[in-house]
Amino acid sequence: MLQDIIIIGSGISGLSAALAFSHYLTPLIPDLRITIFELHPVPSTSGGALSLSPVALRYFDLFGVLDELENFGADSGIDVDAVEIFSSRTGKALSHLDFSGKHGLGYGDPEDGKRYKARRVMRINLSLAMMAAAEKRGNIKIVFGKKFVSAVQLENEDRIEVHFQDESIATGNLLLGCDGVWSATRRHFIDPGRQAEYTGFSLVQGTVKTACLRAKPHFRNSSLNLSKAGSLLVTFYEKQRQEIFASAMVECREESAKDHTGLGKWKKEIINRSLRGEMSSRFSESVIPFIREIATSTEVDWMMYPIYQVPLGGNWYTHRAILLGDAAHAMLPRDESAAYAIDDTILLARILANNLDSPLETTFQIYDAARRSDISHAFRDSFKLWQKRNTDAGPIEAWFRERLIPFQIRNNQMSWKAAFEYDANKAPIPGGSRASTPINGSLRPNSKSRSSLYSQDTTTSSGGGSVNNNQLREFSSCSQPEITNMMNNLVVIEK
Ligand SMILES: Cc1cc2nc3c(=O)[nH]c(=O)nc-3n(C[C@H](O)[C@H](O)[C@H](O)COP(=O)(O)OP(=O)(O)OC[C@H]3O[C@@H](n4cnc5c(N)ncnc54)[C@H](O)[C@@H]3O)c2cc1C
Repeated sequence: MLQDIIIIGSGISGLSAALAFSHYLTPLIPDLRITIFELHPVPSTSGGALSLSPVALRYFDLFGVLDELENFGADSGIDVDAVEIFSSRTGKALSHLDFSGKHGLGYGDPEDGKRYKARRVMRINLSLAMMAAAEKRGNIKIVFGKKFVSAVQLENEDRIEVHFQDESIATGNLLLGCDGVWSATRRHFIDPGRQAEYTGFSLVQGTVKTACLRAKPHFRNSSLNLSKAGSLLVTFYEKQRQEIFASAMVECREESAKDHTGLGKWKKEIINRSLRGEMSSRFSESVIPFIREIATSTEVDWMMYPIYQVPLGGNWYTHRAILLGDAAHAMLPRDESAAYAIDDTILLARILANNLDSPLETTFQIYDAARRSDISHAFRDSFKLWQKRNTDAGPIEAWFRERLIPFQIRNNQMSWKAAFEYDANKAPIPGGSRASTPINGSLRPNSKSRSSLYSQDTTTSSGGGSVNNNQLREFSSCSQPEITNMMNNLVVIEK
């Protein structure tokens, strides 16, 4: 009997899991109780402007998060109907990544008539909106200041006991480990030994007030500026367009990246200066005045975030506990990775709802079998594509890359459209006692077509395609390093 769900972590996975499980299971289990235990004493995230695709926005609309976000006024984020792509070399607009669709209204399910574009929003605001939506469900509780340390499967009982650092204990029937890349649920309980590893890449990002810059923005909402030495994402992230977020991915040693986090003020200033040097060396030759100024301005507060991943394989579950989101499969942010986490939670909630009469482990097996190949494929693709990027191009190669961009974007319009219209709430899921559609190894409806794109670039392709179907994911499925660069910079924000 399932009544008490315990979730570890109040990040995107944990909050999505609470919302998805409440949405799908409350009609079947009226006295369901969901409790999230979060390490931090208060709601907090590392700052940074998150990119949300039409797919993620559709999920957030369903869960009531968009309504809550609206209460933030200008800070509810900025709608992005396109990311304009510029050549830093010539200043010319090369193309744009479109989120507004044929009729300019966005993408969605033709049946319900709702349409979504993309949005840039500060991570903390999204998190607070998710918490507000969770509170309104009535059966979700969030307990802060609780650090998970271990768990015990109670003998001959359908309950699991969770132990926290403050020596308190909670018990539930199901444990969802949503505690991110450094997951203690994974390392101390479900899959001891599977440690996170540094990817070799770090994200350099910063924010600045537009009023502090002399140059005028050359874009409407969001831009990607290609240079010989990588690409710089520069975007607004609040409605009044008074704040700019900029980011670029760089390859660097773990020791250097580690030095950039959790430091005192004066050390941060030294680091800020060295990161400014890095940004300046890459982007200060741009003929676009706004890019030149961002790359060199002392007003931009640069920080570096090392990126870690969880190696493929290993266990995702034990008897009554399962890992979701980054805890299970943190990977290089090739695209809108947060939506992978949301997909996880929706799909697991639906599979569980279909199999309530079966042992939990059966549900986990079905979920794992359906999800694993897609995640593995996305992980491998992402790693390979990142390995290829960040190489400096000579003038001829840079010219050639730029010329290819419009063709590449046009060629992928159809698959992006399909990706935008994907919905984990409606995707076929494996069978159960409450009726469903059997599937075979992948939850992606069009994984075949996508895997053929991937296969040009991926020798280890399993043929399953990657898990998600939003546009950003589709961009990254192109084989060309240029598109990969675009993708990587579209999604790079801070963690
Ligand atoms: C550089 C970078 C840029 C990215 N940009 C984007 C983007 O633009 N768009 C996008 O969609 N995705 C992006 N992503 C991916 C996205 O951030 C992650 O996939 C997503 O945040 C994963 O959410 P999560 O809830 O699984 O993990 P987290 O967000 O890491 O949340 C884990 C939570 O668990 C808590 N916790 C940890 N340990 C414990 C414990 N022992 N006990 C209790 N609680 C604990 C943490 O405090 C935290 O609240 C990016 C990722 C990176 C690395």
